[in-house]
Amino acid sequence: MKDSTADELRACLSAMTVDRSEDLLESAQDYVYCGQPDHAVEIWEQLIAEGGEDADQAHLDYAEHLFDEHEDDEAYTELGAVLSAGHFSARWLRAVDMVEDHKPAMALCLYLLAIETITAEELRNPARARRYLQLVAARRRLKWELGIPLSDVDLHSGIGDSESRVKCWELLRLTTEVQAVDGQLRFWDRGALAALSQTWGRHTFPERPDAYYLEIKAVLQARGGGRAGATRMSMADWKRLAGLARDARHLDDLPAIVNRYDGGTTVEWPPGRNQGCWCGSGIKYKKCCGWPPS
Ligand SMILES: [Zn+2]
Repeated sequence: MKDSTADELRACLSAMTVDRSEDLLESAQDYVYCGQPDHAVEIWEQLIAEGGEDADQAHLDYAEHLFDEHEDDEAYTELGAVLSAGHFSARWLRAVDMVEDHKPAMALCLYLLAIETITAEELRNPARARRYLQLVAARRRLKWELGIPLSDVDLHSGIGDSESRVKCWELLRLTTEVQAVDGQLRFWDRGALAALSQTWGRHTFPERPDAYYLEIKAVLQARGGGRAGATRMSMADWKRLAGLARDARHLDDLPAIVNRYDGGTTVEWPPGRNQGCWCGSGIKYKKCCGWPPS
């Protein structure tokens, strides 16, 4: 029947089926929130008995509820039904995602097994190739989180967002703490401090920039005159350091990377009153960190 009304009807009917399951899944959630999980379980069991995609969704929601109730064994049974369906579905990924929250090592095993089973033939299908890359990224992320050093293959396939973020946090922690490493005191210039604290959140940095520079000044003063080993770093240094950190295989490699880094501008101490301030503000020392004169 090539009738437009019939097409509309068909579209309507299939939309209604979707809505029915969605409504049921939603009301199951409502029952959980209202403290009547028994009704929710009834709905999930009904959808599971009906089978199909909605059954998988019901398994997932039911598993989530069971995890919340600390009935982990039962939750894994529900997830098992979805996991056995194969790793090319979005629901499989959601199931492993849930496993990851509770047993990251088990989730890593599932990713490894899934990657193993993908054949070269399957990779010719673009959708499956995309899923393969998702699995590889997940494997790398979990290895990273579990402290397992990354392999050449992991590094070759590019570092994901979460590892980059963790590396940058660690790098910031290492470079923003005011402490001399091997006699060398490194600090961020005013521009870098402002830019980094804007990007990475103020709580990583001292409440006020002035407090940060006062702390550095105190260390430099305590160490006395002469050419104190202090290095001022700019955003260009941050970019170079972040680039070096990106290639690190393990979080534990970062301190060595920071220690080895030889960029930045050497700062003379004590500074001349009419010289540009050591903090990198571009203002004369006597009008910047040298004010009031001590
Ligand atoms: Zn200054």
